[in-house]
Amino acid sequence: MAENTPTINTNAPAPQGVGGEGFFATKLSDLIGMARSYSLWPLPFATSCCGIEFMATMGPNYDLARFGGERMSFSPRQADVILVCGTISKKLGPILKEVYSQMAEPKWVIAVGACACSGGIFDTYSVLQGIDKVIPVDVYVPGCPPRPEQILEGFMQVQALAQGESLRRRDLPEYQHLLENYDIK
Ligand code: SF4
Repeated sequence: MAENTPTINTNAPAPQGVGGEGFFATKLSDLIGMARSYSLWPLPFATSCCGIEFMATMGPNYDLARFGGERMSFSPRQADVILVCGTISKKLGPILKEVYSQMAEPKWVIAVGACACSGGIFDTYSVLQGIDKVIPVDVYVPGCPPRPEQILEGFMQVQALAQGESLRRRDLPEYQHLLENYDIK
């Protein structure tokens, strides 16, 4: 490498381990956790204004790609983090649940904005008072709308979860119990 070549920051720190001349030893779970957390495939489930904030988060100013999450997926089977951005009507609840059920494990959920977190200002007969009525939520991002920085913070929280979780979360009794509570197979 030339002397003045700048170091490229990949934003993916190496897991803890022991290194030496020509070798590096670490735990497989740490390595997989790092790989998962820096290759999240987001599924934007955007229904209203918060979706516009998410678009800004993807744009060059905020650039979600820096976190390895630029590969949007509009198919739940090829996504592992769903960002629910906007007001969710009660009629839409079962569809959201179906989309979540079709995502492969491991998967995470971010409720983006007050509407997704709690129904927001729409305390009406037709609006779901928070998506956690139908699917389990990992991270709540408050605000009406939240700024892109807040959405990035929520994304980073999911990265931290992905890094620290058991390799097969789906096998954990507490996770299975959680899904059973939501009647999700
Ligand atoms: S939280 Fe506010 S900005 Fe976001 S969808 Fe609801 S009303 Fe719109």
